Amino acid sequence: MKRVELPSPNHAHRPADCVVDVLVLHHTELPLQESLDVLRDPERAHRVSAHYVVGEDGTVFRLVPEDHVAWHAGHSHWRGREALNATSIGIEIVNLHGDRHNYPDAQILAVIELCREILGRHPAIEPRNVVGHSDIAPRRKVDPGLRFPWAWLAGQRVGLWPRPGAAAIEGDVQPALHCFGYGPAGEVDPADIVASFQRHYRPARADGVADRETRALLADLLDQVGHKA
Ligand SMILES: [Zn+2]
Repeated sequence: MKRVELPSPNHAHRPADCVVDVLVLHHTELPLQESLDVLRDPERAHRVSAHYVVGEDGTVFRLVPEDHVAWHAGHSHWRGREALNATSIGIEIVNLHGDRHNYPDAQILAVIELCREILGRHPAIEPRNVVGHSDIAPRRKVDPGLRFPWAWLAGQRVGLWPRPGAAAIEGDVQPALHCFGYGPAGEVDPADIVASFQRHYRPARADGVADRETRALLADLLDQVGHKA
């Protein structure tokens, strides 16, 4: 993959005690050049950045070194922690909206290669901690969108993918979602948390309804990470 060094001034020192254990994938909602401009602009009221930007042709731009904090996650939660910038790597993938536009194969191949390198450098990033912005900011964020090929990534050992056929979780599904990493419910509607899960693991219908298939997929994922549903 083609790589370009394009440093951004928008970053902070990463405290030595912050172990990187989350990888967050985003879509840019902007074309390539505008994305690079925004993510490198020090004059904005809310300065933003990411460690990497991946263009539609698979070119990888490195904006922030991994040992520095980039500002991509915003208000966020995962596995009981919040404000995930300090402990994460962020990749912005150029796509105007991942619910409506497919990701080109060349771009996804570059994302997979980049993610695998990152996972190699940061072994604390467990498979379930490869997340979308929508996983860590339910309702507020929907990226990288319903067309992002999470199953393809999981097949290349980047993240998890649920196997069909598990026994569905009965009763309140929120504790199980929270156990996997989502939440907390309370700040947003419980249905938003369900929809957030579905966006990643059951994108065919992300309606916020904890139906039988959703409950079975969640049960299998919990099994894959060693929790009982
Ligand atoms: Zn995002």
